[in-house]
Amino acid sequence: MKYPDIKNYVGGKYIPSKSTKFLDVISPLDGSLLSRVPVSTKEDLNDAVAVAKKAFTTWSKVPIKERVQVFFRYKTLLEKHILELSQLVQEENGKTLDEARAEVEKSIELTEFACSLPQLVGGEILEVSKGVECRTDFYPVGVVACIVPFNFPSMVPNWTIPNAIALGNTMILKPSEVVPLSCMRIVELLKEAGLPDGVLNIVNGDREIVEAICDHPGIDAVSFVGSTKVAKLVYARASASFKRVLTLGGAKNHLLVLPDAHVSMTASNVAASMSGCAGQRCMAASAMVAVGAVDPIIAQICVEARKVIPGVNLGAVISAAAKARIERYITEAEQQGAKILVDGRNTVVKGKENGFYVGPTVIDYVTPDMSVAREEIFGPVISIIRAKDVDEALAIENANPYGNAAAVFTQSGGAARYVIERASAGMIGVNIGVPVPREPFSFGGWNDSKFGVGDLTGKSSIGFWTKLKKTTTKWNAESKTNWMS
Ligand code: NAD
Repeated sequence: MKYPDIKNYVGGKYIPSKSTKFLDVISPLDGSLLSRVPVSTKEDLNDAVAVAKKAFTTWSKVPIKERVQVFFRYKTLLEKHILELSQLVQEENGKTLDEARAEVEKSIELTEFACSLPQLVGGEILEVSKGVECRTDFYPVGVVACIVPFNFPSMVPNWTIPNAIALGNTMILKPSEVVPLSCMRIVELLKEAGLPDGVLNIVNGDREIVEAICDHPGIDAVSFVGSTKVAKLVYARASASFKRVLTLGGAKNHLLVLPDAHVSMTASNVAASMSGCAGQRCMAASAMVAVGAVDPIIAQICVEARKVIPGVNLGAVISAAAKARIERYITEAEQQGAKILVDGRNTVVKGKENGFYVGPTVIDYVTPDMSVAREEIFGPVISIIRAKDVDEALAIENANPYGNAAAVFTQSGGAARYVIERASAGMIGVNIGVPVPREPFSFGGWNDSKFGVGDLTGKSSIGFWTKLKKTTTKWNAESKTNWMS
């Protein structure tokens, strides 16, 4: 085992869980054992919430311009340690080093945004009638809990940590039990940056601890990022105990390729979108709707896909079970009559025979009823569905229950606008296969890809992490009293 057993992190200290149950943390790169993560108990959570509650009484009173100083220093530390942090992400998640580095760079950008929050939460003041003024102030919500998935061990925790904490909340973070190591480095760097003990606490575990978070009366808000199945469970359960909740779920992103699309740009974008991070991105292209005569583009996508080499510029998928699941989807589509143009099954990387690799896979003549067309595969696989025109393509996109992202490839501004207005997704790309909004724009999908109001990052997140106080003040004693006095 490369690293010692993981502990929880409460009040600025590593605390062993009260549980004796552990799960193995395996590197997808080569199947080696990295560490063991405790399956924490309700008692572990109770201790962490008590600490976070106490820390809230002081942290929430620190002026925001002082609070963000921690994040200026944290940003510098992320920059200083970028190689080490990227290597850790790669080791526990299996993505390539370049992808891991890009993820840490995004964490830096998210932190940079949090540093700008004092400029965005000044509140408003207005003399609403003679001598009477109204003003608004943003107050932190309290103790917030953030539950994160395996696919971005650095970026997704940093979607919430800088904003929520800079806005005065204290936090319980529940890392993915599959990739818990990066979160442990994040708290160390934040401590070094001067974050007071107890403001950010980590409780490791799986389902049991997530359920305990949803039920805990001391937690005021819960954010979740993960699969739709669990996003729905967490939304319902945490709302039932009257918490503020925002849960981001899975995705099935459709790219609409129109006949006038630029061939090489479209092909390289589609191939990169479906294979980047081994297809384990909630923004990955999973279905391509080919409108009319686009065969030259499909041929070029296959050329581009063949340049994506497992173990070189394509990382591993998260587990042996994920590899088996992805390959099952491909085989099922083949049995149902789809045509496999590029086949990534049975991939073995020399020297990494115990790693979990699936090669890039392009499947043509998929029909909307096949499971590869309907379900989230979360692997480097693109299913091509043929449509006669853009309305049929939009009907296919609209029929899928998810709504994280969609994209259109065309050289016509009018056609692009037509798709933007009709696609049922929260994030749309025009000639962009992974349309992640950069800060300060916010991240969040529609339909079964998100439950709750507002988005989790950017300006839109301010509403989730704060409560607005409205104060009305009268300064003219001489004015007569009316119904609003
Ligand atoms: P997951 O839903 O299995 O796990 C997410 C978190 O929930 C983990 O911390 C896990 O411990 C916990 N969990 C798992 N099962 C649970 C249960 N039954 N009850 C309570 N808690 C449970 O997701 P994952 O496999 O870690 O991540 C991949 C999924 O996340 C994909 O569906 C992907 O699309 C989605 N995702 C979505 C976004 C987005 O922004 N919409 C971003 C990243 C990932």
